[in-house]
Amino acid sequence: MATINTNFQKLASGYLFPEIARRTRLWQESHPGVDVLRLGIGNTTEALPEAICDAMKEKIDRLSDRATYSGYGDEQGDTYLREALVTYYERYGVNLESTEFFVSDGAKSDAANIQDLFDANNIVAVQDPAYPVYVDSNVVGGRTGLFDKAAGQYEGFVYLSSTEENGFIPEPPKVHVDLIYLCSPNNPTGAVATYDQLKAFVDYAIKEKSIIIFDSAYNEYITEEGYPRSIYEIEGAKRCAIEINSFSKFSGFTGVRLGWTIVPKQLECENAPAGVLNSMWNRRQCTFFNGACNIAQSGGFAALSGAGYEQSRALVEYYLGNAKIIKEGLEKVGLTVYGGVNSPYIWAKTPNGMDSWDFFDLLLDKCHVVVTPGGGFGPAGANFVRVSSYGHRENVEKAMQQIEENLER
Ligand code: PLP
Repeated sequence: MATINTNFQKLASGYLFPEIARRTRLWQESHPGVDVLRLGIGNTTEALPEAICDAMKEKIDRLSDRATYSGYGDEQGDTYLREALVTYYERYGVNLESTEFFVSDGAKSDAANIQDLFDANNIVAVQDPAYPVYVDSNVVGGRTGLFDKAAGQYEGFVYLSSTEENGFIPEPPKVHVDLIYLCSPNNPTGAVATYDQLKAFVDYAIKEKSIIIFDSAYNEYITEEGYPRSIYEIEGAKRCAIEINSFSKFSGFTGVRLGWTIVPKQLECENAPAGVLNSMWNRRQCTFFNGACNIAQSGGFAALSGAGYEQSRALVEYYLGNAKIIKEGLEKVGLTVYGGVNSPYIWAKTPNGMDSWDFFDLLLDKCHVVVTPGGGFGPAGANFVRVSSYGHRENVEKAMQQIEENLER
């Protein structure tokens, strides 16, 4: 008799974004003809850079000719792209080997799949609030007890509270943990970790023989000096950190799908000397994955240098311009806001300690603007909403105008 993985039953109520969609749909059904402006989901809206489209079109041409057609590629990603990624990291003074890169169909699946490498008894630390994938994948992997509804937390996780007091970058855990998920620039808070803050985690991980899973999906949004764009800028990180990144938010690949994970050969843990984790991830990808789309890989290659890089940077600047408008607009109506400078996300405190879902409903009802309730990212987000800068400029401006006109101070 087949039995299910009962860990699925531990998962707390529906995934955040379907719940936002449900509430928005219900509201629209009762307000026909009223347009809603969406600054909720972090989904890119602007056209792909021209140089990247040209590269992908050229690849399609080659695929349409029998003489240049290619089928399955390497599961780890095409060598030319992995080598281009090596060069990309050299910009930050980080030296990696191409065989330490594993190209994938995006950071989300890698962030979820990476837990396959680790024993079910590992103790997991997550930032609170956090991008939900780190939490849910480890729940399904059996590393938690039940969800405690009152606390809004799973038993067995160590939550690293990200608050106004610590600038939304927590200190390393006070207790032993085995796996630590970190995201900088952070989704949802928009906070970015300094060298010293990341070094504290690397020092902790080396001392405790823990592994950091570092999500740098927004590294191209760092505009100010003094913040590392890769965890490998921190000495010792290759011994204790895996890094995950994506073309989604840099080059608008949310629909194209392309990302990468770095598993350094120096990475080690309690029962795996250097090299073993790299081989394990290679084995995992070769068995469970058939390689990223070859058209997408051509586009990704174009994004890493020359015109493709410059045009991707312009895309990032566009969204950061939106972020500035949102940040200033929300400040104008008296809200306390964070993020939005080295990140596409603005983390806005709800007025008068209002619950984030209530403020979500209020903004939808009064201003017709959809944001993301912070409580959906963890209990520390209960009095915040995340406002995303992914939107057409005219919609962002209109949303801010509607908030300014209709939100009572
Ligand atoms: N990591 C973080 C922190 C994200 O916010 C997102 C998307 O919003 C992803 C990963 C997903 O990236 P991808 O589109 O490559 O799956």
